[in-house]
Amino acid sequence: MRRRELSNVVVVLNEPQNLVNIAGVVRAMRNMGLTRLRVVQPLEFDAYRITGIAHRCDDIVDSTLFFDTLPEALADCVYVVGTSARARTAQRNYGRPRELAAALVDRAAEGPVALVMGREDRGLSNEDLDLCNAVTIIPTDPDYSSLNLAQAFLVLAYEIFLAADGDEQDLPRSRRATEPATVGDMEETYRALEMGLHRLEFFKSRLPESVMRTLRTTLGRSEPELREARLFRAIGFEIYHYLNRTLGPLEETEQEGEPEAGPEDGDASHG
Ligand code: SAH
Repeated sequence: MRRRELSNVVVVLNEPQNLVNIAGVVRAMRNMGLTRLRVVQPLEFDAYRITGIAHRCDDIVDSTLFFDTLPEALADCVYVVGTSARARTAQRNYGRPRELAAALVDRAAEGPVALVMGREDRGLSNEDLDLCNAVTIIPTDPDYSSLNLAQAFLVLAYEIFLAADGDEQDLPRSRRATEPATVGDMEETYRALEMGLHRLEFFKSRLPESVMRTLRTTLGRSEPELREARLFRAIGFEIYHYLNRTLGPLEETEQEGEPEAGPEDGDASHG
């Protein structure tokens, strides 16, 4: 992950009116690897209450810098992305979050870069947006484009995190139980299923060829592992043998195709 770039991303809250939103932003910063917060004229900023909502974020809150004006908060930044719930009339360099998150992270190699969030009731003013190199709008339902401040921030911080290769972390791997099934394994499975279905007299009113083809396309689509293929094989095998045991062999059975798989293959925990 590009930690150095993330550590150069500065989050700027311009005149936040609601402490709960500040806490929401702080918490999302922690989730997305961002640590530098600047706040311009907050209505209230109570570190104790903020960390009561944003647990284990004391370092972010304690290192928050306060400014009287937005230009002062951005003075050392080499690149600034503003945010808006809607397009304004003025000409701007608009971009979608993914594109501008990548630009932010790229420029963060050169120095501090900023993501600026506006106040809850009126967003960023035209003068505020004039300080930004680009402005991003999170796509939403056009009838209701204004997101909650902290929620909008989370979307943007997530994109920044991904742009800084945060998605290269390994996903938890599900234990791969066995090796994949081969064509040979699957042919045995289909043969066992066909035997079982035949013994059930399933094909009395259905065409074996078309039933078996549907089973092939369905199982083929799921790319079974060997363990899974063996389970289906055991199902066919058990049907066949159970009915033979209880009803006796089918009158007209041509027995030449008896499946080879033994019942021990049916244990799903095998492998
Ligand atoms: N009525 C204001 C809404 C401000 S919402 C307006 O029309 O601009 C408060 C802040 O949340 C915004 O300034 C912006 O930083 C962020 N925000 C809300 N919705 C957003 C969206 N769709 N795209 C990007 N940022 C958004």
